[in-house]
Amino acid sequence: MAYLGNPTSTIAVLKKYNLHFRKQYGQNFLIDSNILEKIVSSAQVTKEDTVLEIGPGIGTMTQYLAESAGKVIAVEIDKTLIPVLEDTLSAYDNVEIINGDILKTDLAALAEEKNGGKPFQVVANLPYYITTPIIMGLLQSRIPPERMTIMIQKEVAERMQAEPGSKDYGSLSLAVQYYACPEIMMQVSPACFIPKPNVGSAVMRLTTYQEKPVQAEDEAHLFAVIRAAFGQRRKTLVNSLVNEKNLHVTKEQVLQTFEQLGISPLVRGEALTLNMFAELAKHL
Ligand code: SAM
Repeated sequence: MAYLGNPTSTIAVLKKYNLHFRKQYGQNFLIDSNILEKIVSSAQVTKEDTVLEIGPGIGTMTQYLAESAGKVIAVEIDKTLIPVLEDTLSAYDNVEIINGDILKTDLAALAEEKNGGKPFQVVANLPYYITTPIIMGLLQSRIPPERMTIMIQKEVAERMQAEPGSKDYGSLSLAVQYYACPEIMMQVSPACFIPKPNVGSAVMRLTTYQEKPVQAEDEAHLFAVIRAAFGQRRKTLVNSLVNEKNLHVTKEQVLQTFEQLGISPLVRGEALTLNMFAELAKHL
């Protein structure tokens, strides 16, 4: 089977199997071989690696991954694509296709079963409608991937990489940056996909920290404080924290903690670094 990363071969496969794109599954297939090569080189995949691919589609990126990785495990929700994948990937004996929903997959159990308990490398052109739950599920897994190289919506990539003080900075930036170092590798135009998505895309590489950048005694509490801080963007941080019932803190307590930590009572959530949020969570 020829490489699929071009419009002609992709359309030929769609016709052969009489396939119709399923919008509800976020199906936008890559048709640009330059982009595919760049994704695989950004992922730094070697023959030592087992790659987890989420949503192989008709197998376009899987072909490239099969050539550079030791093994590829590809999880695809759409069962009509399974016979297609068996055909387009028949030349490779290091690819295993699993028909399933990645959000319902026990990722640590999968790493244990398929990779001897070692972390996967994740490489994927993600379905955009579930980008955040997929990424957070991977980062919070008992065996998180070492590295994830993923195509996502451009705006979401910018939010994940945003720094304090910028308009994109928020709870998603902090949640991701607690677990991993985010880097936007390149921007990708809608013209590189069939059908064209109606948003711009970016390839993001997330390298998981061996040791977290801040020490949180209670991660759930840290994330509750972060969520409260960004829940009401126009309010000062003091008011946002006091208004969040689940935190059970009074204005006096918050003001006292701010004074202790040298934080201005007029500050808004978007000015605080992850380190400052960790300190705040410890004291509140
Ligand atoms: N990898 C292919 C490519 O680059 O051309 C297809 C990428 S397409 C953006 C997303 C793929 O994810 C589709 O094949 C879709 O069916 C699949 N998908 C959507 N939701 C999924 C889920 N919950 N679990 C696994 N795969 C899913």
